[in-house]
Amino acid sequence: MMKALMLICDGMADRQVAKLGNRTPLEAARTPNMDKLAKRGVCGLMDTIAPGVPPGSDTAHLALLGYDPFEVYTGRGPFEAAGAGIELHPGDVAFRANYATVDDALVVKDRRAGRIQETGPLEAAIGQIKLRGADFIFKNTVGHRAALVLQGKGLSNEVTDSDPHEIGKKVLRVRPLLRTLERPQLLRAILTGGIRRFVGRRRRSTKTARLLNDFSRRAHEILKNHHLNIERAKKGFPPANYLLLRGGGVVPHLQPLQERFDIRGACIAAAALVKGVCRMAGMKVIDVPGATGSVNTDLNAKVKAALKALETHELVLLHVKGFDEASHDGNAAAKVKLIERTDKELKPLISAADFVVLAIDHTTPVTVREHTGDPVPIVIAGPSVRADEVRVYSERAAARGGLGRIRGKDLLPILADLMGKGKKFGA
Ligand SMILES: [Zn+2]
Repeated sequence: MMKALMLICDGMADRQVAKLGNRTPLEAARTPNMDKLAKRGVCGLMDTIAPGVPPGSDTAHLALLGYDPFEVYTGRGPFEAAGAGIELHPGDVAFRANYATVDDALVVKDRRAGRIQETGPLEAAIGQIKLRGADFIFKNTVGHRAALVLQGKGLSNEVTDSDPHEIGKKVLRVRPLLRTLERPQLLRAILTGGIRRFVGRRRRSTKTARLLNDFSRRAHEILKNHHLNIERAKKGFPPANYLLLRGGGVVPHLQPLQERFDIRGACIAAAALVKGVCRMAGMKVIDVPGATGSVNTDLNAKVKAALKALETHELVLLHVKGFDEASHDGNAAAKVKLIERTDKELKPLISAADFVVLAIDHTTPVTVREHTGDPVPIVIAGPSVRADEVRVYSERAAARGGLGRIRGKDLLPILADLMGKGKKFGA
């Protein structure tokens, strides 16, 4: 049985940096192990979503697992909820929720309720709410964050956020998106989908908005009277007395990897969004204690877990964080250092499986401090690849590789084919 290891380095790709002698951090860093992979394998550039489209973490990983993000993605909520371990069904609508602090006039004073940590009792109290017309699951994720999933018939993600995304503003009433459209947009929606479809969409979004406003009002009642919050207020901490909702998305049906490619997959990641995408793709999500997702994440523990997972799985995805953080901070020196450290830590992995894929989910230039649409370098090393002339792993070197330029959603079909699991199209 062929095994494959997929290393995804979050935001490691970059643009040239003047301070680094017009090299990228990846070009400036000493990376003997990554270079060894480049020598052994076939290299190329990858547009994770599409040329010029800056990927999010969720859409990037959907593509890397072979799905078309334009087809299956409607919002971040479902992947956050799946990452929190909530079992989802196609058609459910999931939202991200923040415990926040509001005053008596519902004006937001703190969008994170003083970064509250102990929210367990609040979660339990919220769970007691009964909604008319739908069931729901509410679960805390990390710190002040939580996920809300509505389950039932006739739901929609076409609603506005209740989160005003700013301090000093009043929380927003959730509104059906189709009611807030300007006239030309509204006409277009009617003309493209037909009047009956439009009416159905509007009914679903109106119902969902009502459910969410109902939920928000009752959650506020419960939270503001909760003893934990009364104690917090006494001690001078901001009470977690409101749940701000945003990022609504419909849970898509994702054909499991095992069914589509006949590949048993496992994932090792610290980021909830990445875990969520992998779980929804039917992969086993392996939690590694100590892997915090920050620059100081315990990479060594993740590497060990990946080696172990390879014993029982054909595909292991290892998501390595930190580069993206250094990039958002605009810290080129820290990024170079982390790349070099990572290269050392990855040494045991470069020959741990028949196939090793080294990829990056998106470019995050330290000069921009945000994700951009530049393509990322990629290597596939393994026994059946047509190795090319590329000797080092970097953005510019990979451009001369034998893979040429591919899309993120092409990667898994290519890998599956190399592993002998390609499916013939035609007779
Ligand atoms: Zn980022």
